[in-house]
Amino acid sequence: MSSFEATLAGELAGIDQAGLRRALRRVESIEGGHLGYAGQSLVQFASNDYLGLASHPQVVEAAIEAARRYGAGSTASRLVCGSLAPHHELEELLAEWKKTEAALVFSSGFATALGVIPALLGNADIVVVDKLVHACCIDAARLSGATLRVYRHNDLEHLEEILVWANEQRSGKGATKRVLIVTESVFSMDGDQAPLEQIVDLKDRYGAWLMLDEAHAVGIHGETHSGLAEARGVADRVEVQMGTLSKALGASGGYIAGRRALVDYLVNSARSFIFSTAPVPAASVAAAAAIRVVRSPEGDEMVGRLWRNIGTLDRILEPHRGKQDRAASSILPWIVGPNQKALDLADGLRRRGIFVPAIRFPTVPHGKSRLRFSVSAAHSPADFELLEKALRELARETEPAPAA
Ligand SMILES: *Cc1c(COP(=O)(O)O)cnc(C)c1O
Repeated sequence: MSSFEATLAGELAGIDQAGLRRALRRVESIEGGHLGYAGQSLVQFASNDYLGLASHPQVVEAAIEAARRYGAGSTASRLVCGSLAPHHELEELLAEWKKTEAALVFSSGFATALGVIPALLGNADIVVVDKLVHACCIDAARLSGATLRVYRHNDLEHLEEILVWANEQRSGKGATKRVLIVTESVFSMDGDQAPLEQIVDLKDRYGAWLMLDEAHAVGIHGETHSGLAEARGVADRVEVQMGTLSKALGASGGYIAGRRALVDYLVNSARSFIFSTAPVPAASVAAAAAIRVVRSPEGDEMVGRLWRNIGTLDRILEPHRGKQDRAASSILPWIVGPNQKALDLADGLRRRGIFVPAIRFPTVPHGKSRLRFSVSAAHSPADFELLEKALRELARETEPAPAA
């Protein structure tokens, strides 16, 4: 074996020993609440397609039509000749929906964070993030070169302590330091919500800016389903509204919504925007079609069904994960602790026709491995019945045998 291979094999052996080895599964089909895997059809509680829009006929047709009209790719970056009509239409639609002056789309949510945070901050600045923000925001914060401070998850007192500290740094030698707070509105692995009103009050009080990642909230929360900022009435006070088009909207890409100056500045400075080929036109057209569905009466009906399904799953999980706060999103984690336990439960469910991912470190902290259930409006009563039965059987299987 070459030393290159041997080095990597050694790394993999370490990952294996820790029970953290991952491998890809080849999924043959995925639609709504079902996926095809290894010749089986499984009910899945895994995808982020919370409304079933990835396979909605209007969304799929729009993508096909766009591919015919604009081709398979965008041919260049936005600033060269890849700034196609579908990108502009999607941005206008997003801005209208979010009630902001402007919006900007990127080829993914990850690329959005990676472009935006380093564009806004540099070495002299401070970035303050919730402990549980997504890897893309952590990586982007590091890339920016700003001083990174982490506050305990949803802990307003800790956040305020850090903002006090940040202002002390600012009042030092001359240079006005920028302070940016980054949080998710709905957290991707825990499914809980950030105390947005209080965070917005704090950032105003201390003269900081807020970047809000609505990846798991857009399409689901708020009167027009534009996100949790809308639901809490704070959207117009958030400097940088970020989200993805790849989850509830069923398409692909990331976005920023905010002031015209923000968008114009990002066009001139966000490196993942400038130095990357524009999003695939079919993806942008699909995202726009999905937003139109979400904002229609059909969208209201889908979101209503999603929330009823969330309530159903919450009730089914209760005997297993214990009493919890009422589910605040379409993500319901069952935190079981050890890696092996999460893997065994996922295996047991898979044998009974159900796919739920076991989530381990580094996606979640050590000792907090979990089954992460995600619900869709597309799940049927029969899907939930199968899950309920499977969980009951598994619980019986793992009960200690009665003493002889
Ligand atoms: C998925 C996710 C992203 C990344 O979005 P993609 O479009 O999948 O790249 C960003 N932030 C959070 C919180 C996410 O869950």
